[in-house]
Amino acid sequence: MLSYRGAEESMGKGYMGRAMWVDLSKGAILRESVPDEIYRKFLTGYGLGAKMLFDRIQPGADPLGPGNILGFCSGLLTGTPSLFTGRLEVVCKSPLTGGWGDANCGGHLSPAIKRAGVDAIFLAGVSPGPVYLAVDGEHASLRDASAIWGKDAVETERLVRRELGDSRGDFKVAAVGPAGEKLVRFAGICHDGGRYAARSGVGAVMGSKRLKAVAVRGSGAVEVHDGQAMRSLTRDFGKALKQAGFVRNLLGSRTMQWAGTATRMSPVAMAQAGLLWRQILQKYGTMGVTAMSAESGDSPVKNWKGAGCFDFPSSRASRIADEAVLRFQKRRYACHSCPVACGGIMEVKEGPWPLAETHKPEYETLAALGTLCLVDDLPALFKLNDLCNRGGLDTISAGGVLAFAIECAERGILTKRDLGGLDLGWGKAEAMIRLLEMIIGRQGIGDVLAEGVARAAARIGRGAEEFAVHAGGQELPMHDPRLDPGYGLAYETEPTPGRHTIASFTWQELMLIDRYSKDAVKVKPVQSRGGRLSPFGKARNQAINSKVMQLVNSTGVCLFGMSCGPRLPLYEYINAATGWALDEERCLEIGERIQNLRHAFNLREGITPRQARMHPRGRGLPPLERGPHRGVTLDTDAMAREYRSEFGWDADTGMPSKRRLEELGLGEAVRALFG
Ligand code: SF4
Repeated sequence: MLSYRGAEESMGKGYMGRAMWVDLSKGAILRESVPDEIYRKFLTGYGLGAKMLFDRIQPGADPLGPGNILGFCSGLLTGTPSLFTGRLEVVCKSPLTGGWGDANCGGHLSPAIKRAGVDAIFLAGVSPGPVYLAVDGEHASLRDASAIWGKDAVETERLVRRELGDSRGDFKVAAVGPAGEKLVRFAGICHDGGRYAARSGVGAVMGSKRLKAVAVRGSGAVEVHDGQAMRSLTRDFGKALKQAGFVRNLLGSRTMQWAGTATRMSPVAMAQAGLLWRQILQKYGTMGVTAMSAESGDSPVKNWKGAGCFDFPSSRASRIADEAVLRFQKRRYACHSCPVACGGIMEVKEGPWPLAETHKPEYETLAALGTLCLVDDLPALFKLNDLCNRGGLDTISAGGVLAFAIECAERGILTKRDLGGLDLGWGKAEAMIRLLEMIIGRQGIGDVLAEGVARAAARIGRGAEEFAVHAGGQELPMHDPRLDPGYGLAYETEPTPGRHTIASFTWQELMLIDRYSKDAVKVKPVQSRGGRLSPFGKARNQAINSKVMQLVNSTGVCLFGMSCGPRLPLYEYINAATGWALDEERCLEIGERIQNLRHAFNLREGITPRQARMHPRGRGLPPLERGPHRGVTLDTDAMAREYRSEFGWDADTGMPSKRRLEELGLGEAVRALFG
């Protein structure tokens, strides 16, 4: 039953003015007005999510208990005449880190939520039995999901649509697989058959609420302040995106390998061109950089202790990258309002694991399950990726967990008996497939590994902690900070530790971050390797990068839209949609506010900077003896101290200044942290 709460129905410009709240314990659904002031301070997306969760989750709440809230948040620009604005943010308290959790997902659910008349759907409590939420415009109901509980996530989307009588795919569905139901801590939420809100364990939270799926159909309009201005911005930006398309014809396996070798051997670090990145995305998707990254030292290898050029050389890496993967592609796939279409739908006809239709694996997936575990068997990687998609797992964490288990087996910490007879080892894809199935089903050792590497290592003991590569409980992504220390800085300082999609030197270079802030240090096109690795003087741009990305994640913009050559008119879009006339400084202040609130969420939970430190291997300890990172160690502490100071936080404790919180209008954070 749907009811309404709050002041008179309001609809802003660019946003819908309401959020849906679902109490799963009581089966109650209501639409609640959101005051305009909240939109002006936090936008929508995970800004709105941060505000709602900070106010309504009690400190100390069990992430897998009724007190946690799961939010599906659409972006401020989603559904407006803008480009790259279909990303969805899923927010909650993370069962992996115990702090702030969020996961970003492409596809088409985000605009559907807005067209159904709300900016976000928040779900609290725990349902007495399995249910799914069906939202059809103004109507919403919780429906029995007993018959689909246990089904895989991809199949669930189909079954939910069938039950709703939707043969045209109008309902946009997000679902958990068995991993989410069984509270695997790195479970994600599947949408569109393979787009994923993967990180932070959001799928485990959904499963803990006995919520199998969310299905939304909406056809309402999203009003904007100045549609003509938005369309004009889109026209100019779209035109710029079409330039230099010929570069795509120059791309091939050889070019990508050469780019990797050049990056590895060069005495200087070159800023990577957004234009080239866009052509790679359009031709291959993110998987296009797999061989290049293994060769350059971007991809961690052999659970972070190997070197790509020796342990997983180009001859092997090219088997799981660019042209080799493209051979299986049936068609390209784009998220809502995206002109790049980096996704793909694949078909594997032959071999032991035929797949009629499966999503193209991302770079992160191929590196985590391939390079990190030394697997160069592409059909096996398709199978592992498909298992993650259907079972409902974050592929980054899945790869990290498998690499951890392999190293434990190699060192005799996990015996064949512990592993249920599996002959686990580097590159042994069949055993990895079986182990992944055991994790999804929480069978045998899979039940221990389903807790993620940090908790699994503590349970296993016998020195296993030494091989559990994570930051703050979350497995590290596939970008080695020894090549780009900015990633390491983000892994340790972002409110979602181990996050690769907020800030790094590479993102600053690809975005040309100085185009978004006059206070940014000019991005150098070329610099010495030593200069790039130096911990000093890097925090200013990293902090600006973080602030800009808070806006990106609160407007539904895709990170790739920000980094593919021409400047995405982010501030201009926000103003044209809302009519607020914010200057650059005010926009960045919103970003600073959101970052502070997410950070304060963690501090309120008692999480200290020390707890978010990444595994020593990410910092180059012990130093590698060969490869591009030979002897490289990082002083991430120095960088982190500088970064915290940029935000006005105490360099050691991370505590924000009371005065700055007050200036930002974050009274809720002041009360929580200072009493
Ligand atoms: S670039 Fe890729 S991930 Fe981003 S919106 Fe387009 S299709 Fe989706």
